[in-house]
Amino acid sequence: MSNIVSLVIYPDIRLKTASAEVVEFDDALRTRLSNMEKATKVFHGWGLAGVQIGCMQKIIYINHDAIVKYDDPKSEKGYPLRGAPLFMVNAKILEISEQKFESTEGCLSLPGVEATVQRGAYVKAQYQDEFGNEHIIETEVPTLAACIQHEIDHTNGITIAEHQSPLKRNMLIKKIEKFLKTRNHPTKADLNSTCKSGCSHDHH
Ligand SMILES: [Zn+2]
Repeated sequence: MSNIVSLVIYPDIRLKTASAEVVEFDDALRTRLSNMEKATKVFHGWGLAGVQIGCMQKIIYINHDAIVKYDDPKSEKGYPLRGAPLFMVNAKILEISEQKFESTEGCLSLPGVEATVQRGAYVKAQYQDEFGNEHIIETEVPTLAACIQHEIDHTNGITIAEHQSPLKRNMLIKKIEKFLKTRNHPTKADLNSTCKSGCSHDHH
């Protein structure tokens, strides 16, 4: 049986629309999250928000282990999730550090482009897991902090393009169109077959 997912590509209006809160923590939600985990791996992403595969719910998968390389095993912030998938349902930012850094980010919904976004170097967020249990995550790992901010942005209808000037945003749209016309870049995948994507770089 095939299990096809299609990426929603910018400037699709859904990417500029806030997703709905999840109220039912049922098997359908857990299947959707597990599909998001598979899709993130197939498309070589770091993370994925529901809207990116056309599901308008506040759901996020973050490839935590791929981002946090455990270079400082004594640091506890952001590390307790080692080995477990990070599913964030109804995630909200609680705190962002004043200290910002320039994060250069890609996005599976904006293939072929990168954009720089000011992100807090520290972030504290609350979320529910796939069973509805409440959690708090805080991290000082800049890449993970940026990834959490990037994915929560998606659930609120904001992409890396919304962080740019209108001029830069139009340039990004043109670049994406050109990229998709000239490259054989996969935006669709069958999650039940093995990864055939030749693309090896990472995206959010
Ligand atoms: Zn993204």
